[in-house]
Amino acid sequence: MKKLSSLQSKKFYRVKQPSHEFLCALCSAPRQMRYSKHLSIQNYLQILLLTLTASYFLFPLMKAKVVFLLFPVWLIFELGNKLLYRRELPCPYCGFDPSWYRRDVRVAKKMVQSFWQTNYPDLVGQKEAAILEQDPKSLGIQPITNSAPEEAENLSAQG
Ligand SMILES: [Zn+2]
Repeated sequence: MKKLSSLQSKKFYRVKQPSHEFLCALCSAPRQMRYSKHLSIQNYLQILLLTLTASYFLFPLMKAKVVFLLFPVWLIFELGNKLLYRRELPCPYCGFDPSWYRRDVRVAKKMVQSFWQTNYPDLVGQKEAAILEQDPKSLGIQPITNSAPEEAENLSAQG
């Protein structure tokens, strides 16, 4: 129970200059993300600046071919951004990853389960114990058959 109260009082993470804000599709926690799926205008300016700087230094060696420096620089930025975005995407509160949910629901489910298993093992244990404690007989038709004759008597008394 102590763990549960610390979970409830947990503050939500804040991100400097978030690119977008949304609610987690699974736990509805407010989410902020710094990285976006696509490169920003700022990133493109950085690519340009870096390419120009590299061309300045490599021009004596490569001459006109420095134009092609743009592509590896661009690629590095794209891959780096994608990596950071993917790393930031899973919900820090419940472990839900929307990109994996789109690709393979089973993988997304496993990720959430392992997230809870590693972060709140005692809570997961409590839930499993609660499921096992439920007696299938108590959910059966036993009470209904007991009350049935009484109901019949009441009905006959009313009639
Ligand atoms: Zn979540």
